[in-house]
Amino acid sequence: HLSARLACVASLVPAGARVADIGSDHAYLPAALVLDGKINFAIAGEVVKGPYENAVHEIKAHQLENKIVPRLADGLAAIRTADNIDTITIAGMGGSLIASILEKGKDKLKGIKRLVLQPNVGESQLRKWLMDNRYQIMTERIIEEDNHIYEIIVAEPSIVPFRYSQYELDFGPFLLENKGPVFNKKWQEYIQRETHVIKQMQQAQQPPVQKINELNQVLLEVK
Ligand code: SAM
Repeated sequence: HLSARLACVASLVPAGARVADIGSDHAYLPAALVLDGKINFAIAGEVVKGPYENAVHEIKAHQLENKIVPRLADGLAAIRTADNIDTITIAGMGGSLIASILEKGKDKLKGIKRLVLQPNVGESQLRKWLMDNRYQIMTERIIEEDNHIYEIIVAEPSIVPFRYSQYELDFGPFLLENKGPVFNKKWQEYIQRETHVIKQMQQAQQPPVQKINELNQVLLEVK
């Protein structure tokens, strides 16, 4: 019973992967992957005590203690060499936070074959980090759930550096190739928001301008 958002992330995890889910909170994602029989081993990393305890609770409730290991750690520090992790999932955070977690944990990225990332905002900054660090975007998804629109980015290390234009970084190279109704809705809403901001700025500036014109008129008449 994963949310559509996490189900989409789960669908992009390779079968048989050894997963580190960073910022796992309730460990819903690794628990569902193991319960579905898609994977056999996962780390549920959390930096905050409360969410870490949520993970511990969920793992116990499903008796998954020998398949999912909860760890209280900052970012990729949750990963140990002996875990042989090959896939990292990071979902439900801002793109710049995801990028900073990857940046801070660079030494842990060596054996990693796939990143499945779901930024809530800041997708462009995250794609930029991936490009600057020799990752290739393999596929992307855009989905809507409860009036929120989410993008999911799958990246894998590449030997040759990959270049994306600013346009591709902003919209997503794969999302641009396959513009669907959700993509359309996301950017229509963006246009609406920005248009509203522009209108408010114009309205905010109009009164002082009018006032100055009015005052100039009044002062002209002063003898
Ligand atoms: N991944 C789950 C999801 O997508 O539903 C939970 C998302 S929740 C909004 C974000 C979680 O990331 C929080 O529980 C927070 O404590 C955790 N988090 C934030 N920064 C982190 C870091 N540096 N290392 C590990 N966890 C982190």
